[in-house]
Amino acid sequence: MPDLPSPIANFELPFDPPLAPVIDLEPLINLAPGRRSDSAIDGIAVSTVNPGSGRAHIMYVSENLAGLLGFRPDQLLGKGPESLFSPRTPAAQLDAVAELVERGQQAVVRLELAHASGAGIPVQASFLELPSFSGGWPYFLSVFRDLSAGIVEDQLLADQSAMLDSLARGQHISELLVQVASRVESQVEGGTCWIALADSTGLLEPTVTGRHAHDVVDETLANLTHSGHWSTPSYHRVVDLPDRLQVRLREADVDALWIYPVAGPGHERRGVLAVAHAARPGPSTNEVRVLTHMSQVIAVAVDRNVAESSLTHQALHDALTQLPNRALIIDRLEQAVARLGRERTRLAALLVDVDRFKSLNDTWGPDVGDEVLIEVSRRLRRSVRLGDTVGRIGGDQFLVLCVANGEGDAEAMAERIVSSVSAPVVLTSGDEIRITSSVGVVLIDEPGQSPAVVISNAESALASAIAAGRSRYAVYEKGLQQQVVVRHEVEQALHIAITDDELVVHYQPLVDIATGRMVGAEALIRWERPGFGLLPPSDFIEIAEDTGLIVPLGAWVIDEVCHRLADWPVGTDGQRPTISVNLSARQLGDPSLIPTILGALDRHGVSTEDIGFEVTESMRVEDVEAASITLKRLAALGCKLSIDDFGIGYATLDYLRRFSMADTIKIDRSFVDGLGTSREDTAIVTASLALAASLGLSVVAEGVETVAQYGLLGDLGCDLAQGYLMSKPVPLDEAHDLWSRRQLILPPSTIS
Ligand code: C2E
Ligand code: MG
Ligand code: MG
Repeated sequence: MPDLPSPIANFELPFDPPLAPVIDLEPLINLAPGRRSDSAIDGIAVSTVNPGSGRAHIMYVSENLAGLLGFRPDQLLGKGPESLFSPRTPAAQLDAVAELVERGQQAVVRLELAHASGAGIPVQASFLELPSFSGGWPYFLSVFRDLSAGIVEDQLLADQSAMLDSLARGQHISELLVQVASRVESQVEGGTCWIALADSTGLLEPTVTGRHAHDVVDETLANLTHSGHWSTPSYHRVVDLPDRLQVRLREADVDALWIYPVAGPGHERRGVLAVAHAARPGPSTNEVRVLTHMSQVIAVAVDRNVAESSLTHQALHDALTQLPNRALIIDRLEQAVARLGRERTRLAALLVDVDRFKSLNDTWGPDVGDEVLIEVSRRLRRSVRLGDTVGRIGGDQFLVLCVANGEGDAEAMAERIVSSVSAPVVLTSGDEIRITSSVGVVLIDEPGQSPAVVISNAESALASAIAAGRSRYAVYEKGLQQQVVVRHEVEQALHIAITDDELVVHYQPLVDIATGRMVGAEALIRWERPGFGLLPPSDFIEIAEDTGLIVPLGAWVIDEVCHRLADWPVGTDGQRPTISVNLSARQLGDPSLIPTILGALDRHGVSTEDIGFEVTESMRVEDVEAASITLKRLAALGCKLSIDDFGIGYATLDYLRRFSMADTIKIDRSFVDGLGTSREDTAIVTASLALAASLGLSVVAEGVETVAQYGLLGDLGCDLAQGYLMSKPVPLDEAHDLWSRRQLILPPSTIS
């Protein structure tokens, strides 16, 4: 047939729509498309030529050939046969083939096929003209044998031994699984690799899910691997799955699933390696090799991991949660930080703390505490991605290490952790408890950082998450570290301050508004800190409260005030001022408070009526109960009690009810400030005064700075005033002078 153009040499011709007669090719070529892995033939194509136009097109492609090229068969039908070949194939080679075929001979050559990705696939190709039927169009048969197999095989073996080698050198199985998955994905164009490992009961737990959601993978694998299905490789179409799964998988662009078993030496179920593919129903010969090898690698890794529950495992894992312990996680952190320079990634360390764990442990007992920690470790493991590490670094603290592409990534992880830990925990007893967690996040982008620095930075971020109210995360910032250092220094120095006499008390007079005369004073602490000058309470009281130092500090103030009251020079009227001392919530909850007060009064011979106490209204709700018990006892002893900073708390009326033993309220400076100028502030002060009057309480206005405020307070019937207008807080000797003068201001009626 020399007048017929060769289908192979014709590759310049434009595409011709397929017009070929329909024939059954299977008996003709005697090879079922399903027979792929065990056949020496890796692909068959049949093309034909339209004698009228002289154009050639592909009319049959076996599934394994399409697979080898990264297509579905229907994507190749109708195209010119030249589209199968790599553009690098020399034209002279194709001409020679055409000539042989035209002469009715079989042409056998080595050439490269074109993969969808653009890569070339080395093959041995045989071309042959088939006898034409009833004088119809000529058919050309092309049979291909993939030669890359040998190359791939070598590469696979090299890969396999490299992976097993690093496993033997202590690489964690989770890291190996990530490598396996990326190897599979690089070999299977358009495929996403899933790996699930079987637990001791044989139940599959997905550990690598690529870009797919854990629950979808979980459900899909459970569906496909029940009964005997899992023990040999199997290929499934998504259309055969239950509707609900079908929808979700299609949304994720999955069309087919290839399931490869991971089995132990005695065919025990160790897990499953799966490929979710967007288009192709089954793997090519090469892909089969890759998947088989890789499932073997996983099997060895799993067995080795099980064997590791020996001494090394125990030494490096926490017995309760089975998570890496402090030593191991610090080692991992060190390695990950060292890799940073090379891999251009950023690392995030998240320090997770279970909120109020100690009180949970005290209330529910250590068994429940253990149960909670196990549950938290499970939730953390589920919150992180594969390749991330979760370890327990101490009591109720966990450290998560993860690759972060930026702050947003790390914050999303922190958010996921906070929300997953806060779901209620159902205990084995059936009780349900609610827990929360706080997280300190550190981003690490320089390779040089030591684990100790990373952890201490995470601790300062955690401290600020806790300070901001718990059940949240905070990201470490450089300034934060500075604050923590300062805080730490203050804490140390404050210990010494108490014993080394660095604390002093200043006194600020309280004036009876109707007369303008001093009737009492408030004791306000100051710290003469060497090298820092005189520090106001705002610089150290909060730290003292947080650390518990407020208890010895408060005891010192009480003793000091009692001492000074005893020595206070009495005026001609023989009177002494009433001096009030501020008490923190922490002191009110401390059982040593009453004995401390009674001891000081007794030691200095001061009567209970001469001393008063102020408690702030902005106390946390959980402290109120303990505080009200102590206050009742103080009231019963005859001490005067004031509710300080009145108006700024949230539960003003509730506090008044609970602290009904108080005899005075002190209206906060912030309201007095706007008195007469701000309508709201004036309304609040007026309402507070009315409320106090109806409850029989006396009222002190704090922070009186102007004559106008003073005058208005007089008009409103306020009893007492304290503020810079009369006097700032002053040292003891000046306070004595003020007391001897007594008349600190004229009554408002005379000055307005
Ligand atoms: P506080 O009990 O409300 O004390 C009143 C604060 O208002 C004092 O600040 C006082 O100097 C300030 N002040 C008084 N009159 C005026 C004014 O006219 N204008 C302005 N701008 N401020 C005025 P200070 O001495 O800095 O004390 C701050 C807080 O520290 C106190 O608020 C109290 O809550 C706490 N504190 C002071 N001493 C002690 C103590 O010994 N123990 C405890 N637990 N807390 C203390
Ligand atoms: Mg006060
Ligand atoms: Mg106050």
